[in-house]
Amino acid sequence: MLDCIVIGSGVAGISAALTLQANQKTCMIIGNAHLSDKITKAERIHNYPGLTDITGAEFTQKLQEQLKRAGISITEQKATGVYPMQGKLGVATQEGGYFEAKTVILAGGVETVKQIDGETQFTGRGVSYCATCDGFLYKDKNIFVLCTSKRLESEIEHLAGYAKTVYAFLLYKDVGELPQNVVFVKKMPKKIIGDKRVTGIEFVGESLQIDGVFVLKESASPTSLLQELDVRDGHIVVDRNMQTNVQGVFAAGDCTGRPYQYAKAVGEGNVAAHSVSRYLYENK
Ligand SMILES: Cc1cc2nc3c(=O)[nH]c(=O)nc-3n(C[C@H](O)[C@H](O)[C@H](O)COP(=O)(O)OP(=O)(O)OC[C@H]3O[C@@H](n4cnc5c(N)ncnc54)[C@H](O)[C@@H]3O)c2cc1C
Repeated sequence: MLDCIVIGSGVAGISAALTLQANQKTCMIIGNAHLSDKITKAERIHNYPGLTDITGAEFTQKLQEQLKRAGISITEQKATGVYPMQGKLGVATQEGGYFEAKTVILAGGVETVKQIDGETQFTGRGVSYCATCDGFLYKDKNIFVLCTSKRLESEIEHLAGYAKTVYAFLLYKDVGELPQNVVFVKKMPKKIIGDKRVTGIEFVGESLQIDGVFVLKESASPTSLLQELDVRDGHIVVDRNMQTNVQGVFAAGDCTGRPYQYAKAVGEGNVAAHSVSRYLYENK
């Protein structure tokens, strides 16, 4: 069993993994090989000590080199659930992976796209975050999909293979060729409606009858990963040691709150890793 699983491959997660390694702790990062859109998309970075006027692409390259040198690889999967058990934590992924560790550091960043009204209320009752896990439940049914990233487009295709009609609201450019039963929706959804389960979705001035909603984002909302997590205004509540309210679970970076900055995320990743080391020592 690993000492720690780091969920998220941005600067917070990388900082945590490098510090865990320096503290001789075993860990893995679950995330993306390209690291983070929030690094690659930065035009010029001026406020990070030691890196003068660097582009996001250059910063990504430097981080990838550093990880390679340290022998830290990224497990390219998307974590969908963290499960506290006696003395350990299980992490499941959308790709069917399952990993166990004594601690977890949540460093998945924040999604700038707000939740749809009713999303949390209907999670597990028609609202899903995982096309490959739940797509088969919607055979010949009508579903609504909100997708924020081109990289997740294959999941829309997957859903179209089951559903009668996929109403898709896409928040990215360069939309590829999608199956004929994908109907593009131009309006931002306002509210998910239903009773025991989802029955429809409302937009300004109109609504659609649907059986399910898929929210496909690069980052999972903290409570969709771990329901009992204390979250306020969309941010994970932590103490000065980056400890959450769940034993053995720490958090770092944008997911714990503003300011959304590299230096703050890196610092918190470092603190979280040291707190993990202390926690492991105290809970031997
Ligand atoms: C265009 C742009 C320019 C910016 N410029 C600057 C700047 O000049 N200076 C500055 O200080 N800040 C800047 N920022 C802010 C900075 O990018 C963020 O504060 C920083 O990236 C936060 O790091 P993080 O590690 O917390 O999260 P992120 O960078 O968001 O990384 C999280 C990563 O984890 C992955 N992930 C999330 N959930 C999961 C999951 N469940 N399973 C697996 N992987 C997951 C995500 O896909 C992502 O790759 C900029 C942001 C943007 C968008």
